[in-house]
Amino acid sequence: MGNSKNPVLLDGKKTSDQLKASIQIKAQTLTSLLGRPPGLAAVLVGNDGASATYVAAKMKACAACGIHSFTVHLPEDIAEEELLQEIEKLNHQEHVDGFIVQLPLPKHISVERVTEAIRPEKDVDCFHPDNVGRLTLGRPRFLPATPGGIITLFNHYHIETEGRHVVVLGRSHIVGLPMTLLLAAPGAGGNATVTVCHSRTQNLEHHMQQADILIAAIGKPAFVQAHHVKPGAVVVDVGITRVPDNTAPRGYRLLGDVDFPKVAPKCSAITPVPGGVGPMTIITLLSNTLEAASRNMNRL
Ligand code: NAP
Repeated sequence: MGNSKNPVLLDGKKTSDQLKASIQIKAQTLTSLLGRPPGLAAVLVGNDGASATYVAAKMKACAACGIHSFTVHLPEDIAEEELLQEIEKLNHQEHVDGFIVQLPLPKHISVERVTEAIRPEKDVDCFHPDNVGRLTLGRPRFLPATPGGIITLFNHYHIETEGRHVVVLGRSHIVGLPMTLLLAAPGAGGNATVTVCHSRTQNLEHHMQQADILIAAIGKPAFVQAHHVKPGAVVVDVGITRVPDNTAPRGYRLLGDVDFPKVAPKCSAITPVPGGVGPMTIITLLSNTLEAASRNMNRL
């Protein structure tokens, strides 16, 4: 582990590239056993640039690993019922082992109804209440994509969570809540003492300063500053915000929730943005797809 001023960079890009090799081998084996490649679909509603980029990255990773993937691109003004019908089609397509509905959805669509419409066996994002319930009880069907990716990153860099105090900033259903469940669960990658903070938390700075491991998932660029971090802490930055920047080739920069240049010298290890948590999220999604495909094979 690095010391202050010289932290270990928890490189999600490099780690995910290494893990893709074993995913590819598993995908090949499943392809010969199933007589078709494992399949992942993504439903993309509307024209949100960030969502389109995330879906494209997921499709590209599938192609690199021998997983068949496709995107169902639907218009922004699609009626909720129509979207539910598209989901029902995917629920029944045999070559689709798993699928995701990229969030956020347009305001007129209920995320809860959409999430609950996905067959739990195909819910490779682990958003369905059945799957969240199973996770809560320590019997997960799938690992939630982003928190699962962070645990995999910890394993890869031998970052121990057992007995350590982890402070999670954010309690969303996608990141903060499932992250907390995984870390507090008994067993490898868990056994941590977890404090969950959110917008109503009092003395937030005090809580952050107690963290052996600080996980920031709030979507507020450069929110975490050096004085928030205990010397030698591990810092994980989940946040990704597009900030307009005319000097950048695409007209924006991606910023995390952590002020990396100021915080890094105080940490023992830290994730960059981009190239930290994002690629690891995709790795969990691919692993979940293989898991779903392998359960389908067992049903043949
Ligand atoms: P979200 O649904 O907006 O939730 C944000 C959470 O942060 C909420 O629980 C909110 O508290 C809390 N929060 C907001 N401001 C706060 C403050 N000033 N102090 C303390 N807590 C505060 O966001 P999300 O979906 O979890 O995503 C969070 C960030 O991670 C975003 O930047 C998103 O783009 C990024 N993300 C990255 C990946 C990846 O793969 N790298 C995956 C998913 C998300 P309340 O509950 O009280 O409102």
